[in-house]
Amino acid sequence: MIEHFSSKNFEKELIGYCIGCNCGCKFIAFVKDNKIVDVTGHPSDRLGMGSFCTKGIALVQELPFSEFRLKESNKPNIDLNKDIGIYVDRFCTEEELQRAFSFTENVYSNMLYVEKPKTIEIENIPDKKVILNISEPSYYDVMLSRWIIDAKQKGAKLFSAGAMFTNITFKANYKKLIPPSEFLSFLENIKNAFEIGHSEDEFINKFALFSTKLSDALIVIEDSYIKIDRDFVLEFLKYMKEKYNIDYVITGNITHWPVKNIKEHLKDIENHEIVVNVGDMFRYIPDDKLETFSKKDILSLSHMANMSVNLSKYYLPRKFFIEMDFTKKTAFLDVGAQAIFENENSYTLLDIIPNVGKNTSYTKSPKQETTTLQGPTLFMGHSVVDDMGHYSRWLHEIEPNQYIYINKSLAESINITDGELLEITTEYGKAVLKVKISANIPDNTFFISDGFDEYQPFYEGVRPGVFAIDKSFIPVIKYKKL
Ligand code: SF4
Repeated sequence: MIEHFSSKNFEKELIGYCIGCNCGCKFIAFVKDNKIVDVTGHPSDRLGMGSFCTKGIALVQELPFSEFRLKESNKPNIDLNKDIGIYVDRFCTEEELQRAFSFTENVYSNMLYVEKPKTIEIENIPDKKVILNISEPSYYDVMLSRWIIDAKQKGAKLFSAGAMFTNITFKANYKKLIPPSEFLSFLENIKNAFEIGHSEDEFINKFALFSTKLSDALIVIEDSYIKIDRDFVLEFLKYMKEKYNIDYVITGNITHWPVKNIKEHLKDIENHEIVVNVGDMFRYIPDDKLETFSKKDILSLSHMANMSVNLSKYYLPRKFFIEMDFTKKTAFLDVGAQAIFENENSYTLLDIIPNVGKNTSYTKSPKQETTTLQGPTLFMGHSVVDDMGHYSRWLHEIEPNQYIYINKSLAESINITDGELLEITTEYGKAVLKVKISANIPDNTFFISDGFDEYQPFYEGVRPGVFAIDKSFIPVIKYKKL
């Protein structure tokens, strides 16, 4: 008898890879009447080992067949002799990124450029003896949280630090909340503790002690913290590896392609006669620049009928990864996959930008702005459901509403409580959100999920562009109870 991994009634099994995050899990899709009726992780996948997360299931089984998917086209004849800028997102394949960079060096993204995202193979994480986790992988690189917890279950000492207590924190042996303005000095203090063998800070002291005694340590850190000062944080990680042999893994929305950030895009926009937007670029544009962008000749290639489609002059449906042959070099591994579904009415960047054989150099590192943080800070971070998740009925239910999270002492100082309205202002704009008081946030910190925008179905939220463009931490200029 042949054993199958689904109890559903199906006609055939198809094998593919999910690129919903850096984990690149292999899956089996069970198909009937040209619809996917069930999905499981592939048991032979060396990393996923048969697991498949809820986000992956929605991206494979639900969203490609969703009623919110963009079906109509409105395409100009692009004059490729004009000055073109290209925006790319995390779903872009290696072939698309290669094509974009062979055409122009004006490639922009909300992804963070990181040349070397890890010093250890991911499957070796469960063998680590000490882990300092400064990330929330269960929101972003979902399967990574499993490898960290595997290490903990094998006896690793797990430390969790950051501007929010995360799911991993509640499994950790030691935890520490760090106000964002103190994050860089926290790293500096770790360095000092290793150098002098002691720290006044008990958390840092224990991490240095266990790392030195057990000598097999790892730091996991997400893009949000690196964006505060990329050169500083990457230099810290390099130093800890070279001097103390502590491995690192960078997680989150990162790319090895030297994309320019949104601030550069805001500066350059006037120079570009056409912008090709492969993603939802408009989510990261501040209010005062929305009109300028929407008057430009912008062609949005989009999975969903999202904000960018609504504000672009031209638009085309975009292929999902299950509908194309692709390679993807994620932060953790290389994936090669073939289309498992046909969709002749949707496109990739390769259908828009021809192969002109130009060889634009893409080795130079793009500029990275640093953010000086002092006092009240807004953390515009990843949470359970990201932007695409709000087009999924399954995922949206997990986090339907957007709140601004603050701790009890900040709430008391504003004299505000759960459900009341708070207006918050940064250098880019202001908005009003409902408050939720949480013990998981440090002093002087406001946390808002970056997964919302004004054009999503079910519930309108505030997009990152309003407050922070593509930054994760931004100084708060003003806040008041309404
Ligand atoms: S962990 Fe990432 S790659 Fe794996 S199924 Fe989930 S979203 Fe897809």
